[in-house]
Amino acid sequence: MALKQVIGQERALKILRRCIAKNRIAHAYLFAGEDGIGKKLTAVNFAKTLNCRNNADDSLFTAGEKEKSAVEADSCDNCSSCVKIDKRSHPDVFFIAPENGQIKVNAIRRLEESLSYKAFEGNWKIAVIDGAETLNQSAANAFLKTLEEPPGRSVLVLISSMPELVPLTVRSRCQRINFSPLPLKKMGELLEHGLSTERTPMDSGRAELLGLLSGGRPGWALSGDLIGTRDRLFDDFKSLLSSVNEDLWEDREAMEEWFEWVQLWLRDIAVFAATGSADLTINKDRAKEIKDMSQRVQLKDVLKLSNTFYNIKDTLRFNLNKQLTLYHTYLLLKKTFA
Ligand SMILES: [Zn+2]
Repeated sequence: MALKQVIGQERALKILRRCIAKNRIAHAYLFAGEDGIGKKLTAVNFAKTLNCRNNADDSLFTAGEKEKSAVEADSCDNCSSCVKIDKRSHPDVFFIAPENGQIKVNAIRRLEESLSYKAFEGNWKIAVIDGAETLNQSAANAFLKTLEEPPGRSVLVLISSMPELVPLTVRSRCQRINFSPLPLKKMGELLEHGLSTERTPMDSGRAELLGLLSGGRPGWALSGDLIGTRDRLFDDFKSLLSSVNEDLWEDREAMEEWFEWVQLWLRDIAVFAATGSADLTINKDRAKEIKDMSQRVQLKDVLKLSNTFYNIKDTLRFNLNKQLTLYHTYLLLKKTFA
């Protein structure tokens, strides 16, 4: 695919295309925004556009023509460079991602060395660093050198869904580009009419549910079986209202997932309790169960519980005891749901 196929991020694309048009590519960008909304897709296609062999030699154009053509600046998606970048086998384009939850200093040192050579094939050497908030302290320190004295014609694209956790020394040296979740209407259209040729369109009810569940994040809507996950976790939630299953959470990840999704049920229960109708709920296909649960609670208690669960989720990174947390959660639910 190409830049023009990245949907719903017009503002980010406009900024990047303007950089290309004015030939003012920053040494480092920080693509910031939630997971699953197209940051990496944009980074890959930005790299393809910069190194595409079918982008005409711009010295042949006048300034006006250049400006005009750059409004549409894009990759051809076809040439050997574009294909290699898609396959992650381009010798001048590097991809770095956390290993075991961290980007370590060795990965950054290797990257620095790779960037120090002249480009083999492309116009630009480009590094895409995903999960930039996981740069550990020594990796961030090592990285500063590259950020301060970047090798010629090299671009670093840092990607983060938690940009405030990217070390400030690194963050402040990047041009930040914000990505936003897609509006619901756009998500619906996208899912209903098929995201690309390989995907089959879906019926409008399912498209709407997926759009709502994913919170406007296409990557999330299409990764795996979101509705199936929703069903499994909703059933887990319902069962915890009546009894404790000690195997509910396999590991910390499962706990995090549970506490993330529980907010969705509590939201719908609160909406139903407040309005007496399913119109504004997200899980419309489970409206009956949501209605039943909403009749067992006071609105203010649901909101309080939501807040408490939010705080618990926030402290999960401190390795809370799984069993204690489970019983505590069960008691909180029991207290709220009569
Ligand atoms: Zn190309």
